[in-house]
Amino acid sequence: MKLVFLGPPGAGKGTIAARAREHYQIPHISTGDLFRTHIKEHTPLGSEVEAILGRGDLVPDAITVEMVRERLSADDAQRGFILDGFPRTIAQADALAQMARLDYVVNFVLDEEVIIARLSGRRVCKSTGRIYHILYDPPKVDGIDDESGEVLIQRDDDKPEAIHNRLLVYQRQTFPLIGYYRSMGLLVDIDAKGTPLEVFARLKAELGF
Ligand code: AMP
Repeated sequence: MKLVFLGPPGAGKGTIAARAREHYQIPHISTGDLFRTHIKEHTPLGSEVEAILGRGDLVPDAITVEMVRERLSADDAQRGFILDGFPRTIAQADALAQMARLDYVVNFVLDEEVIIARLSGRRVCKSTGRIYHILYDPPKVDGIDDESGEVLIQRDDDKPEAIHNRLLVYQRQTFPLIGYYRSMGLLVDIDAKGTPLEVFARLKAELGF
């Protein structure tokens, strides 16, 4: 199954994708995570994009599309995948159409106040990638990853100035993809309120398994 997860930052795409990966046995491909890995490993691409991510702007389409093309050509992506955070522009969606035939585009729908609350309380573990929320999904020990014991961090782009910019960028550049995919008959709207368990149950019900 070839899925795209679409929706504003903070709608829970990454959290639900982690569950969907297990359930559907397909890789979870997050362009945000791929960029963050490059930054952590100090690759040339990482240094090119670090400031862009810090501001919450979009990485240029050509760079992003090439990175996704390479990832989708790997063996594990031939049977299916969950693309999380890609495409984010019409140009990226056009490029993706040349690379794969999608089954569904899942649109996570959530109010702006909830988005802001989710993003500002989000904490992550740099090594395991696990996502927590200080109120809604806290770790067992305050500020510490359950698995690795490492200190959780707040992503630079989850700080207030960057959150505001990311929501603007989403409205301007990514929101038009809803109409794009709806007109192709691929869009499935999912109410992204509630716990990950509730949202994932809605997703399975919509996709039929
Ligand atoms: P995310 O983890 O999906 O919120 O992505 C974090 C950041 O990575 C975004 O704010 C962008 O700077 C960059 N990024 C991720 N996916 C894309 C994309 N499809 N196009 C351009 N930039 C992206």
